Amino acid sequence: MLSKRFCLQVSLVGIVCALCQQVRAAEATATQVEKSGPISEGEATTFVKEYYVALSRADLPTVVAKFGESVNYGEDRQRDRAFIEKDLRDYIARWPVLNLKPEAVAVSTADDRSSTITFNLIYSVANDRNKKSLSGHSTNTWIVRRVSGKIQIISQREVVHADPTRSVEKTPRPQSHEDEEALSDEELRKQGDTQIEVPTAQSTSKPSTRPTKPVRKSELPSNFVVALDIGHTPLKGGAISARGVFEYEFNRRLVAELLPQLQSLGFTSCFVINPQGDEIRLPQRAAKAHEQNADLLLAIHHDSVKDKYLKTWQHDGKTQKYCDDFHGYSIFISDKNTKPAGSRLFAGRLGQALLKAGFTPTLHHVDQENRPIIDKEKGIYTFNDLVVLKTAKMPAVLLECGVIVNRAEEEKLNSLAYRKRLIDAIGRAIQDFASAGDRSD
Ligand SMILES: [Zn+2]
Repeated sequence: MLSKRFCLQVSLVGIVCALCQQVRAAEATATQVEKSGPISEGEATTFVKEYYVALSRADLPTVVAKFGESVNYGEDRQRDRAFIEKDLRDYIARWPVLNLKPEAVAVSTADDRSSTITFNLIYSVANDRNKKSLSGHSTNTWIVRRVSGKIQIISQREVVHADPTRSVEKTPRPQSHEDEEALSDEELRKQGDTQIEVPTAQSTSKPSTRPTKPVRKSELPSNFVVALDIGHTPLKGGAISARGVFEYEFNRRLVAELLPQLQSLGFTSCFVINPQGDEIRLPQRAAKAHEQNADLLLAIHHDSVKDKYLKTWQHDGKTQKYCDDFHGYSIFISDKNTKPAGSRLFAGRLGQALLKAGFTPTLHHVDQENRPIIDKEKGIYTFNDLVVLKTAKMPAVLLECGVIVNRAEEEKLNSLAYRKRLIDAIGRAIQDFASAGDRSD
């Protein structure tokens, strides 16, 4: 479980320039807003921005002053400002690096002059010292009231990884439903990407400068570093689900849930490669895993089918594409990876764990893309030129968690209980793999 308030973390030092600019913009508008009457949307937006900007500056007095004397703070309990200040201070200490982006602020005013502000928060927090990081999004509901002309928070609620449809309509560049765009050399070439000359296992077989850790059967999970890769980015969202949601949203949500699950299993050194969803190149993802001494790279994706299998239906007043004929997970490895045997070994453990948890693999990549399958029962394919896998210098596996163009499977993947089963199985597979004395290669 993610801590309810982890996204309220503050960077003591590193404040992103963009945030500073937001501060100035927010300050400029704050002086212009009206100080009485119903709270307008502009005023609410400024208030929320100012709050997060102050948090980002570790300016707790300013943040705390935005609360009323007594606040319904998160868990149906009234708290005073001293409690809130301490709570926020604790989190500053735990998460020194922070990036928070409120968006889609809306306000509705009740009869009693209090207003409800709702918004989404895109967050990524990190602690460089212990290499921990968390990212994802949350939906927030604040009840505010104007007291002596000043807006004050009287209730603050946050639900982490809520509605997966959040803001995806705003994401530009709708892409093909086909395959894993921009994932293989082939695809990169088609798109004219200049960075296709990526080293393969053959060209990088020089000894690594990475300190090799002795492999011991009793190796502590805390020493085993798992790099989690969120497939795609907010701007290039990957496949589009049957209900019109970008794959990136599914990938990000699952990783945001998997990370604390792994941490609770003792894998305290696991981290997310690109928590902010920056537009980084695929080889950079593997490079970041290497920089942080990852023992395993797991890329999380959600699957689609070839365009010709898609039909249309109406959802939420919009025409969407779907295909209910294929469902299930699939696992990909690259034999061009520096650690092909380790990759196969982990793929096997992962397939086994998923089968045991009641999931079934999809075999549609064989017919639709001629993808070689090395284990039909466990749903393991080779895809040698998948850039993120082949450039990895550690065992690396890509998991397609399910087929999101399948309407029923999309619904399942939106269910917390289903995802819990999924992340439990992934966690078990990583435990198995980490504790295996011989990880090969
Ligand atoms: Zn994908």
